[in-house]
Amino acid sequence: VNRSFKLFRLQHVDSQLDVVRTQLAEIEKALAEDQPLKEALEAVDQAKLAAQRAQQDTRSAEEETKAQQQHIEANQGSLYSGKVTNPKELQDLQKEDEALKRRLNELENAQLEKMVGLEERQDYLKKAEENLESVQAQRGVEQRTLGGEKNEQTAELTRLQEERAIAINGISAEDLELYQNIRGNKGGLAVAKVQNKTCSACGGELSAALAQAARSPEELVRCENCKRILYAG
Ligand SMILES: [Zn+2]
Repeated sequence: VNRSFKLFRLQHVDSQLDVVRTQLAEIEKALAEDQPLKEALEAVDQAKLAAQRAQQDTRSAEEETKAQQQHIEANQGSLYSGKVTNPKELQDLQKEDEALKRRLNELENAQLEKMVGLEERQDYLKKAEENLESVQAQRGVEQRTLGGEKNEQTAELTRLQEERAIAINGISAEDLELYQNIRGNKGGLAVAKVQNKTCSACGGELSAALAQAARSPEELVRCENCKRILYAG
């Protein structure tokens, strides 16, 4: 078997290996991609904090209202106890009662607002949690699909590596080194087929002598234009 054919066959396997390795790298990247999950988790955390704060605000408002009611009861206790008989004092207590009730009304309105705010925060939290669940479910499906693709590509990689071990047999160290160097410099393609007396990689026209030499089983001929190894087929 001639030298250029062996390298051509090796090139064929290596090109497939390049594709498989690129695909595996993309799969790994997709498997590690967790931005949507991170964002959904963060949204839930923030919604929880907001709901907790709203809960505390509501509780404080409740306590203020309750304290105000107790204040009113205490004042009314004095007012209706029968112990206070001085009309001026009774009038003051009456005015105090009215003022306390006005303030209670304000506090009750504020409490209602806080309760509405709490309900909104709780609704928002519920939506954020539902969104998280759906993101997790979707991620689960994606991960399973990607896992399946990864298994397929890994099997293909193993198969190609075995094929490469066979293809590399009988190639001299010198030819292999040349091949690797060109592959490294020429976008992974070291061997080009000759088609209609042109190099199929760069399209450069070959001289009749070069095209003839490319057929030789003993010689390795390179394209004058792109310097790739030529395989005449
Ligand atoms: Zn060329």
